[in-house]
Amino acid sequence: MVNNSADKERPLGSQCHVLIVDDDPTARMIGGEFISRAGFRVSEAEDGGEALAFFKEQVPDIILLDVMMPGMDGFEVCAALRQLPGGEDVTILMATGLDDVESIERAYSAGATDFIAKPFSWTVLVQRIRYIWRAICERDELRRSEDENRALINAMPDLVFRVDKEGIILDFKAPSSFDISPFPKILRGKKINEILVTENPDSIMNLLERLGKMGESQVLEHQIQCGYAMSYFESRIVIKGDNEFLAIVRDITKRKINEQRIFELAYYDTLTGLLNRNSFKENLEQAIERARRNGGITATLFLDLDRFKRINDTLGHDAGDLLLRNVAERLTRCVRKNDCLARFSKGNSAPVARPGGDEFMALLTEIKDAEDAAKVARRIIENFSEPFLLAGREIFATASIGIAVYPFDGEDVETILKNGDAAMYHAKDLGRNNFQFYNSTMHAATHRQLTLEALLNRALDRKELFLHYQPQIDLRTGKIAGVEALLRWRSPDLGLVPCSDFIPLAEETGLIVPIGEWVLNTACAQNKVWQTSGLPPIGISINLSSYQFRQKNIFETIGSALDRSGLDPRYLELEITESAIMQDAERMIPILRHLKDMGLTWVIDDFGTGYSSLNYLKRFPIDVLKIDRSFVKDIPSDQDDVAITKAIIAMAHSMNMKVIAEGVETEEQLEFLLHNDCDAIQGFLFCRPAPAREIEALLREGKDFFESCGGKIPGVGGVRRAPFF
Ligand code: C2E
Ligand code: MG
Ligand code: MG
Repeated sequence: MVNNSADKERPLGSQCHVLIVDDDPTARMIGGEFISRAGFRVSEAEDGGEALAFFKEQVPDIILLDVMMPGMDGFEVCAALRQLPGGEDVTILMATGLDDVESIERAYSAGATDFIAKPFSWTVLVQRIRYIWRAICERDELRRSEDENRALINAMPDLVFRVDKEGIILDFKAPSSFDISPFPKILRGKKINEILVTENPDSIMNLLERLGKMGESQVLEHQIQCGYAMSYFESRIVIKGDNEFLAIVRDITKRKINEQRIFELAYYDTLTGLLNRNSFKENLEQAIERARRNGGITATLFLDLDRFKRINDTLGHDAGDLLLRNVAERLTRCVRKNDCLARFSKGNSAPVARPGGDEFMALLTEIKDAEDAAKVARRIIENFSEPFLLAGREIFATASIGIAVYPFDGEDVETILKNGDAAMYHAKDLGRNNFQFYNSTMHAATHRQLTLEALLNRALDRKELFLHYQPQIDLRTGKIAGVEALLRWRSPDLGLVPCSDFIPLAEETGLIVPIGEWVLNTACAQNKVWQTSGLPPIGISINLSSYQFRQKNIFETIGSALDRSGLDPRYLELEITESAIMQDAERMIPILRHLKDMGLTWVIDDFGTGYSSLNYLKRFPIDVLKIDRSFVKDIPSDQDDVAITKAIIAMAHSMNMKVIAEGVETEEQLEFLLHNDCDAIQGFLFCRPAPAREIEALLREGKDFFESCGGKIPGVGGVRRAPFF
């Protein structure tokens, strides 16, 4: 079977196939000879019937058809051929034989492509066939490229407008995949610049003009709001012929949305929609640059939620996320209320960021002075006192805020970030729910604190801790009545570290618990050693931190120190500060009672500094009050201190308590205390805190401390009263 769709499928460069239809065998033979010699393929048919039958089998390129034939004449055959599949396109050249106009017209109306009048020269005919064949080839070529173009256009995802030089839409073609719903229903006749709106309404029309004159093209972008959604398009305008243009419009909505997403990921925090750390830094850098040029200041607030972990742990991460979103919203509102705060150019976002976790940052530019930043911080703290509503539940969340101000607290982004962070941690250290400005000592302090903490951690294991003992002199005997055990730390890296530096740190980190236990055991054991070596028994005072009282096993700890050392409890005195007792007075009373019942002595240390009322103290089983050094320091010259000291001694005695004064450094102080009935003293005047062997020597010697001051102070060395302990 031949393929009948000859016009479409004829391969490039194929041989031309000519069918000669003639009842005259000579004509067929000679014609066939000439035509095949010219390089064409020839087939023959002796009448119309045979020609039609042949055509049904295979479609030639050209049919040379004689008019005068028996049976069907050439006109009839021509008309019948045109009806056959592939017949509409085949080139039919009619040999009329009759050189009259009527038969020429009949030939055309029967569907002939052309005619040639008989008799003709075969050479001329061959020449004619050559031209026809060339035309057929060119037509095929044209069709092929047209087909290709059509296929290309159909495959294009673009909407194509045909536009005249005035910009009027003549026609358009939209592939089925193109969503034209954002465009008006009627497009034809509209002006292209009304359909494809650009920021500059003249730009399309200008472009058409330039294109017409200079062939300059350009890609324009448009956006069309459709309901709540925005559609984005990109159009390219090209010339089509002399007076027309094509506007090729591509839907770039997906690309735009993706670009936007990438932009958002790069600049924003996905949870809260606030800026992320990087973009905040960029904005801070610009703000610093502006402030540098204008001589202004810029403040950065660093906010960290207090105990956020607890919310996450107890209510779950979803609630945590919800809280963070709520915080972001409140913060943005607080910051924006301030009119003098600059807005951000990027995405119109507020100058608030969430660099991560429960941290937030806000940039305050163009403020007058640091107090403006404090106002915003105050407003935030105040605002946070209102509860957050999380899924119908009221949650209270407070924040600690650090403030770093350019140019005072740093001249570049990194320094501002570092110092703002330090200020925020300082706010946390000060009990949270407050704000702090940065000051330059914070880093040094933080650094030293961290070093100390790391070293203190190992101090106990590495045996860097030891005790010194400071004698307490009984003012009635002049002899050592007891010693206070004082902790010492000699660090190989830092040397001798003062108590005031490491004891608060040990309390904060909880290290005071094992350290305090070690002090108890060591001091009790030492006292027992002195007693068993035959020295006169004395009391040993040990400082207890309030943190040790919060331990459930406080009784066991003390009990075991006594058991292990074998020390009689009556030689153990526990010193606790006034503020430690008052912190949690009700809970302390039974603890103190219980230990008192075990037989030991209670001393209130640093008395006078903690604002406790003596009346209240009656409820505590206290044996001794230790007057704070700050009162002793300025007696007898400071009349207030003199009055307070006298009052403390008198009231203590009226409540059956003994009084010891600490920090006695001068003979005047000693004289005053002696004359005012103080029971005992402790201070550099007699002895600094010293190692155990030095105390042992003093005890062995049975040193009378009054003898060293004898004679100088009236009364000293004279009357001996009942012993202190
Ligand atoms: P504190 O219990 O009031 O101890 C008295 C402090 O005054 C000691 O300082 C002592 O060296 C000092 N001192 C004694 N006499 C004088 C004097 O005449 N003049 C002056 N200027 N100072 C004098 P230290 O040893 O530095 O202890 C400081 C604080 O550290 C103690 O105050 C106590 O609160 C605490 N601490 C010492 N050892 C321990 C301990 O083992 N456990 C606990 N929790 N705290 C301790
Ligand atoms: Mg003490
Ligand atoms: Mg004290």
